[in-house]
Amino acid sequence: MLKLYNTLTRKKEIFKPIKKGQVGMYVCGPTIYNYVHIGNLRAYVFSDILRRSLKLNDYKIKHVMNLTDVDDKTIRESQRQKKSLKEFTKVYEKGFLEDIEKMNIEKPEVLPRATEYIKEMVVIVKDLLKKGIAYKTKDGIYFSIKKFKNYGKLAGVKTKELKKSCRIISDEYDKEHVNDFALWKFYTKEDGNVFWKTELGRGRPGWHVECSAMSMKYLGKSFDIHTGGVDLIFPHHENEIAQSEGMTGKKFVNYWMHNEWILVDGKKMSKSLGNFYNLKDVIEKGFSPLDLRYFYLSAHYRKPLNFTWKNLEHSKNSLKRLREIISKLGEGKINNRNVDGAFKQFLEIINDDLNSSRALSYMWEILRDDKLKDSEKHELVLEFDKFFGLDLGKEEKVKISNEIKKLISEREKARKKKDFVTADKIREKIKKAGYGVDDTKEGVKVKIK
Ligand code: AMP
Ligand code: ZN
Repeated sequence: MLKLYNTLTRKKEIFKPIKKGQVGMYVCGPTIYNYVHIGNLRAYVFSDILRRSLKLNDYKIKHVMNLTDVDDKTIRESQRQKKSLKEFTKVYEKGFLEDIEKMNIEKPEVLPRATEYIKEMVVIVKDLLKKGIAYKTKDGIYFSIKKFKNYGKLAGVKTKELKKSCRIISDEYDKEHVNDFALWKFYTKEDGNVFWKTELGRGRPGWHVECSAMSMKYLGKSFDIHTGGVDLIFPHHENEIAQSEGMTGKKFVNYWMHNEWILVDGKKMSKSLGNFYNLKDVIEKGFSPLDLRYFYLSAHYRKPLNFTWKNLEHSKNSLKRLREIISKLGEGKINNRNVDGAFKQFLEIINDDLNSSRALSYMWEILRDDKLKDSEKHELVLEFDKFFGLDLGKEEKVKISNEIKKLISEREKARKKKDFVTADKIREKIKKAGYGVDDTKEGVKVKIK
């Protein structure tokens, strides 16, 4: 029985999908105006372990993750760099897809780009205008939150209170309520050549309506799960609910799930604070993407997690030790009853709102358990890894630079000539760069030291 914490009800609930055996889930993807940082990556590893848990519970999954390729930031930055929007976002889209692959994040079934769904967004905005829930001003089309009676239900805020706290700045806006938000922004010259000519006028969509359009396009008016980081609860997800339910009159999403922050010195890791690292920085410091994945898994997704290089080092060491232990476990005969019992217990742990930290410690307990045979432990670890995604069954993939490759082939040449002095010198150089070299029957094997 899978239980998930639902932000909407503020309770752990038993998960019941709309259609038996199937799950529709939508994950707010990145804004591709920059390389994502490792705070962002926590959000995607979280949705990945959710996906993997659903699979382990035998659900068929349709997982949609959008790419925000048009918004204020993408437009502003592409213009600063004198590039077309497409040319500009393409780079970061590629970077993001490479990052998630390195992190062993399973690819969603659908990866829609916002700019390819303008037609669908226009349909929503037109409908909201027709229903009188949206109104036009001179700079755009806005959603009127006072026309939607459940506004604030996700974040637990009341429209009246919002008005009070925001009165002071409301004069700056040409809208009826300070929390009314743009569904469509009319063209201004700052937008350069980024605009769409539509029935709504020349302009571009607001960020929130992008996600309503792409999610409903692929998952229908009502679907099962929607995820993102906690900063998206308000206003982004609140606004998605307002637009979608305002249009369809149906409940938009049954389970809203949010991951907590990656922190640096107690503050949220973010681009605006400048306290961020990218995956590239992590790799350059000698860590593998899966060391980082282990680090994320060591805390429950609803707990803030403090990033320090020292904490990452702990995770790296644990993963290294784990691999060493696993590499010594042989395959062989197993007692199915032992394996099934332990796996059932593991499933109960992850089914308790994806308790990844407890799941890791359970794996360590299993490895220390004298009552289990090595072959049984091996079998179990491979099953557990369907959740962890740490490649525990494989030898660590070693990515080596061209420079190291060159040294390896030079060393090979020297060895062939029986020039062992040179060969040993080169080996030392390779060692200094942080790699180990093993000469095996199958050839040379390179390991990260
Ligand atoms: P953005 O591209 O800013 O929309 O962010 C992409 C995803 O990363 C969203 O789900 C955010 O909530 C999430 N996110 C941003 N910063 C952090 C952080 N420091 N820790 C965890 N998640 C984050
Ligand atoms: Zn979104």
